Amino acid sequence: MAPWPNQPCPHPACAQPITDLLVEMVPDADRTGLEFKAILQQRPGGAITCPYCQGAVEYDRSGNALTASDRIPLRYSRVKMETRAADYGVQRIPPDLSMTPEQWIAEEKLMSGALQGYLYAEDLTP
Ligand SMILES: [Zn+2]
Repeated sequence: MAPWPNQPCPHPACAQPITDLLVEMVPDADRTGLEFKAILQQRPGGAITCPYCQGAVEYDRSGNALTASDRIPLRYSRVKMETRAADYGVQRIPPDLSMTPEQWIAEEKLMSGALQGYLYAEDLTP
């Protein structure tokens, strides 16, 4: 099952429509953990950032709804996001070689305004 919640962000100050949690965009190193698995299987036990407010979101026990989470959320990889955006851009007619992750997520994922000032996994100090 694909983690496409298609529901508003559970953080009240945000409440933007999340069409896709984009779990495949977390760094490969984070894809082996139990937290990643929980999100993928749509159950509690792992959190990922909201693409808009970067707040931690987690599936509730029903597996159908997202809740605000106290966990440290998994974050998207800048490299993966930029690669995906670039791939999307070159396939456009005419090609758009300057496609940014912000443009890509707005256009393909219909999440306009997401990823503004996003802190990517690579941006965190180790
Ligand atoms: Zn949010």
